[in-house]
Amino acid sequence: MYLEHISLKNFRNYLRLELSLPPGITVVQGANAQGKTNLLEAIAYLATSKSLRAQSDRELVHWLALEREPIPYAEVAGDVAHNSTTPHIRILLTQQGGRGSGSGFRKVVMINGIRKRGLDLLGILPIVLFLPEDIRLVSGAPTLRRKYLNLLLCQIDRDYCHHLDAYNKALSRRNAQLRAFRTKPVDPVLMELWNDTLVQHGVYIIHRRQEIISQLDEWVREQHRLLAAGQGRLRVEYRPSLDMNDSQAQVPKAQMALALPEEPVAYTPQPIWPMNKIEKRFREALTRRLQDEIDAGATLTGPHRDDMAFLLDGRDVRTYGSRGQQRTVALAMKLAEVRAIESALGTSPLLLLDDVMSELDEKRRGRVLEVVQHVPQAVITTTDWNIFDPAFLSRAQRLEVEEGVIRTK
Ligand code: ATP
Ligand code: MG
Repeated sequence: MYLEHISLKNFRNYLRLELSLPPGITVVQGANAQGKTNLLEAIAYLATSKSLRAQSDRELVHWLALEREPIPYAEVAGDVAHNSTTPHIRILLTQQGGRGSGSGFRKVVMINGIRKRGLDLLGILPIVLFLPEDIRLVSGAPTLRRKYLNLLLCQIDRDYCHHLDAYNKALSRRNAQLRAFRTKPVDPVLMELWNDTLVQHGVYIIHRRQEIISQLDEWVREQHRLLAAGQGRLRVEYRPSLDMNDSQAQVPKAQMALALPEEPVAYTPQPIWPMNKIEKRFREALTRRLQDEIDAGATLTGPHRDDMAFLLDGRDVRTYGSRGQQRTVALAMKLAEVRAIESALGTSPLLLLDDVMSELDEKRRGRVLEVVQHVPQAVITTTDWNIFDPAFLSRAQRLEVEEGVIRTK
């Protein structure tokens, strides 16, 4: 699987772009503010119908289109080469009510000319995107770690995405209901209904997160060992908002076997809770905290408050790690994401690396390039050609970007 061709209309600073991409490596060079990140954002948008940095779809539309087009729009389209088929994806954003209406943008997703939901894109073009700010995955707020989990799980499990979507909708409606109960008596039947919906979707989310984190724990440790041998032993732990301490959960056997031989100190893998157990706990928490929730006007327990912790020799990297250690852990997480997709889908993701090489030392850069060379396709941006050795560059397609125009070098 690889992306054969991408075309953009009015996307960010690209007024028009037609770009064919070969399998293998493409390196895009450009000075600051020319369109490197925008190109990767466009590819990621094509793959997921979501932007990882824009707050609203309007930001994605070229300023000139907003000013000049009678109906401002932006379009991202592309052809994905699979074994036997070539799905054509097209995502169109158009301003409702036309220019100057102040209205929002409507998004239409099409696959092979047929209208689909954004969800239907997932799995067609799996991607792993690595941005310089991804160090915040380790150092930043929990919401970034939830985003990481959501993007990964959505790409490998469509049901997860469906439950996540339904959960988020139910959550905001339940929160509105909680606020309404500040001024009128609580309706227990209505509350029960909202709890049911939340639990139904939340349990699936929590269960899948426990599973993937338990796998990531192993893969990230392996990647970390390759990147920073002798610099400590990394563990990734799930920190669910739901209290899941209990002796009844099962310890995953495979993980125990893998973890124990090399472990200098006793190592207890995190237990995996069965769905019915999560369901019971979640329901209890929602009922128990109702009054607090009405006071807060928000749901206080659930996957929307989950977190993940990175422990280096038992110490939290977020609190104690140096910048370099945090960056290495973030990189290990990204490489583990590649592995997770390969394991779940049986195909490697398209790897998008945004100007990350310059921040890495020789050893880490070498490891990233190893991974880059084994995936079917990678697009790497840089400000500086010299960061790569000539032998590597000679095998890559080389492009230059300047003010939203891409040329072959
Ligand atoms: P850097 O090396 O600094 O990261 P870059 O090449 O990655 O630079 P981009 O983030 O791709 O730069 O942005 C390129 C330009 O696109 C910026 O000047 C930015 O202001 C501009 N831009 C962003 N959104 C829009 C938009 N909606 N319409 C037009 N231009 C935009
Ligand atoms: Mg950039």
